[in-house]
Amino acid sequence: MSGDGPSESTRLVIEDAPPPSSTSTDPHERGRRYQSGGSRGGGGLLSRQVLMVGGVLVVAAVVVLAVLLTQGDDAANTERAADSFAARVTADDITVHLRMLYNISQRYPNTRSAIYGGYNESVEYVVSQLNTSDSDYYTVTVQPFTVTTFKETATPVLNLTRDGTVTPFPGVATMAYSASGTVTAQFKAVRNYGCQPSDWFGLAGAIALVQRGNCTLYDQGYYGKTAGVAGIVFGNTPQYPTLPLRSRVRRRNDSATVDLPMIGTSHNQFLELTEAITLGPINATIVTAGELVPQYTANVIADMKYGREDSVIVVGGHLDSVEAGPGINDNGSGSSMILQMALEMRRMHAQPVNKVRFIWFGAEELGLLGSYHYVNDLKANDPEALANITCMFNFDMVASPNFIRGVYDGATATDPTAASGSTIIQHEFEKRFDALGLTWQLTEFNERSDYAAFTLNQIPAGGLFTGAEGPVGGKTAEERRKFGGIMNVAYDTCYHMACDDLDNIHEGVLGEMANAASYVVYDFALKENLQQFLYPNATAAATMAF
Ligand SMILES: [Zn+2]
Repeated sequence: MSGDGPSESTRLVIEDAPPPSSTSTDPHERGRRYQSGGSRGGGGLLSRQVLMVGGVLVVAAVVVLAVLLTQGDDAANTERAADSFAARVTADDITVHLRMLYNISQRYPNTRSAIYGGYNESVEYVVSQLNTSDSDYYTVTVQPFTVTTFKETATPVLNLTRDGTVTPFPGVATMAYSASGTVTAQFKAVRNYGCQPSDWFGLAGAIALVQRGNCTLYDQGYYGKTAGVAGIVFGNTPQYPTLPLRSRVRRRNDSATVDLPMIGTSHNQFLELTEAITLGPINATIVTAGELVPQYTANVIADMKYGREDSVIVVGGHLDSVEAGPGINDNGSGSSMILQMALEMRRMHAQPVNKVRFIWFGAEELGLLGSYHYVNDLKANDPEALANITCMFNFDMVASPNFIRGVYDGATATDPTAASGSTIIQHEFEKRFDALGLTWQLTEFNERSDYAAFTLNQIPAGGLFTGAEGPVGGKTAEERRKFGGIMNVAYDTCYHMACDDLDNIHEGVLGEMANAASYVVYDFALKENLQQFLYPNATAAATMAF
């Protein structure tokens, strides 16, 4: 059953997590790990494969050849290598992981949310895949962290009272992180979508009715609290006529909450409530009860033992689902895709110029918590390691049934340094889709997935997205012309719902996304000059600083 709060019996256990990476082999150490299998890498890559065996310097013939190659040949070789890597990462192989994640979800039942056993088993699955045949290729770390979750402790109540007649509205939800309490007050509608402080003027002391808008629920709640409302009833968007809204009213990053009782309703209920208010003065009573529960969850980090320590490419995707469903498109698809990329790199013993670090983030659906934990931890404890991250790739939802081929719009990143590098990454995806003869369009890059912690720390990021709920009214006529599918329907009709299962995967677009993602990531991994490529204007400034 979806929507219940976390329970003791399914509390995540991570006691037997592998030790942190500090106990692992020194990544600088050279030796038998430089194997001959990495010959797909192109000239610049091969020149690194100088072997020290028994004190004798062995230089492979290919290295001599590599030295003779010109810069142009390097680029051509890199493209060929990226092309052949992309061909290795197939939808069929990714689907095997999706089936495993789905089977896991069915035991918990039907969720892999970060605070449930289904997430714990998802972590174990990824770790077991990475630790099979050649455990010497990646340093695998499970990075635990605590999240404070909200647990509804009683069924919420919404009653309307007019002229002594009480009308109950059953089937409403407690908004996550709502305060607990009982409030009765005049029931009034918020102007517009409540995304401006002025929308809430004149509502002091009232219980306010507002529809989910284009700002965050926290913003809406904060403006309401500031205006002095006594409680808030949130209506779901038109895409959800019967599903009550139960999302978190909590700021990302620093976890600030709004100290008010808050109820969520379906869109149809919202319309009924709006009409009731227009018929004249009416009172509402809302009753909410919940508690905050600290719980463990974790990120999984697979650090390739090859490549430059000072030029790391993070390839990320969140491994957790929402509580309401198994999360197979969101984000079994992205996390399985990067898992298959990691396994293929290991299978071919790729030894690229730049180090690739795969990260499966936890608790994205609880507010990007895993990615913020990862970045904030580095910031506090190892700022050099954070500075060594050259760029970040994020893959969150890459197999939506009624898909678009979305490329993150780099220019819209809040941080200007990140925006300029992110635009360069964006162009690489565009070029790949063009080369494959596939249509694409830019998609929002507004810090609603795990790249946010990186871009807000000046790290360029990019990625692909095949669509979630989509615009109000669903897929547009133009999008239908570009990508096919069904007009006026959400890109993913099961987004954040119980039906986000194996039937909610479009294997065709999954294969296309895997190809483009694998190509660009591998091409970046092989680039000798990745820093200059992503920060073309930084070189002069850095030189002047010295
Ligand atoms: Zn997601």
